[in-house]
Amino acid sequence: MTTLDLTTDVLVVGGGPAATWAALKAARAGADVVLADKGYCGTSGATASAGTGVWYVPPEPATRELICGGFTGGGSHNAAWAISSGGWAGQAAARHARSLSGGARTRRTVPVGGAGLRPTGTPGPADGFREVVAAVQGEVLPYRKNYLRHGDGLAASLRALDDIWHRLRATLYAGDGDAVRARQAAAMVAHARWMYTAALARTETRGMAKRLDFPAQDPGQHHRIVTGGLDRVWTRPEPLTTAPREVA
Ligand SMILES: Cc1cc2nc3c(=O)[nH]c(=O)nc-3n(C[C@H](O)[C@H](O)[C@H](O)COP(=O)(O)OP(=O)(O)OC[C@H]3O[C@@H](n4cnc5c(N)ncnc54)[C@H](O)[C@@H]3O)c2cc1C
Repeated sequence: MTTLDLTTDVLVVGGGPAATWAALKAARAGADVVLADKGYCGTSGATASAGTGVWYVPPEPATRELICGGFTGGGSHNAAWAISSGGWAGQAAARHARSLSGGARTRRTVPVGGAGLRPTGTPGPADGFREVVAAVQGEVLPYRKNYLRHGDGLAASLRALDDIWHRLRATLYAGDGDAVRARQAAAMVAHARWMYTAALARTETRGMAKRLDFPAQDPGQHHRIVTGGLDRVWTRPEPLTTAPREVA
């Protein structure tokens, strides 16, 4: 095995769309970047079988709406999330490295991250992530809950997911061996809560966002719904800033 000894401002681990965009954005923000992948960029991980392709439309490559509209397929929402979150992470890493100036290369690193890694209460069993994954799947996999969406069902699922979230915040911990699995379980719950909170806020049917209790499209809701937050999830409408245009 060859050993490399490299010094850099930002180390990106992985070479899928998320990591590649993180590396690009960090480099564009002026940081020295090293990207390390266990395979080859684009031919390893989820991207290998998905074939997310290289389609993008300037000025914002992460926006797939201009290609895919409100529907999935051909490298749309999931890939857009990978690219967007990777881009934000890369920019933030470059900004952080800049804020440390000369000390960036000799600093003591401090671990971050809460849910699934650092419980606020007494840690539960090491395989507690299995129960969390099963519980979140129980709320998001059934078609009657997540495809045939109705406000009452969404609200009930959200109450269950909020409860799972607050319990896992306090107890979920898998130690070093399964830390990634515990963190992934926490991410699944966070994501499910964003998804259902945003779905409740859209009181209409538009593209893939279907509501049985609001079957018609509402011209007054021609906007994105932005969501976020961990212990308290929020949403807000965001106006569309990109004018529709023809794409060849
Ligand atoms: C069958 C299938 C169909 C899909 N269809 C669509 C679709 O139609 N539309 C859509 O938008 N999305 C689709 N997706 C999802 C989309 O492909 C993913 O969201 C996206 O590829 C995720 O990118 P990523 O960079 O987060 O992860 P990945 O592409 O999984 O990249 C992870 C990278 O990290 C590397 N890595 C992992 N562990 C290590 C390590 N320890 N050290 C170094 N490197 C490491 C891997 O080699 C890999 O290169 C599909 C996925 C699949 C599997």
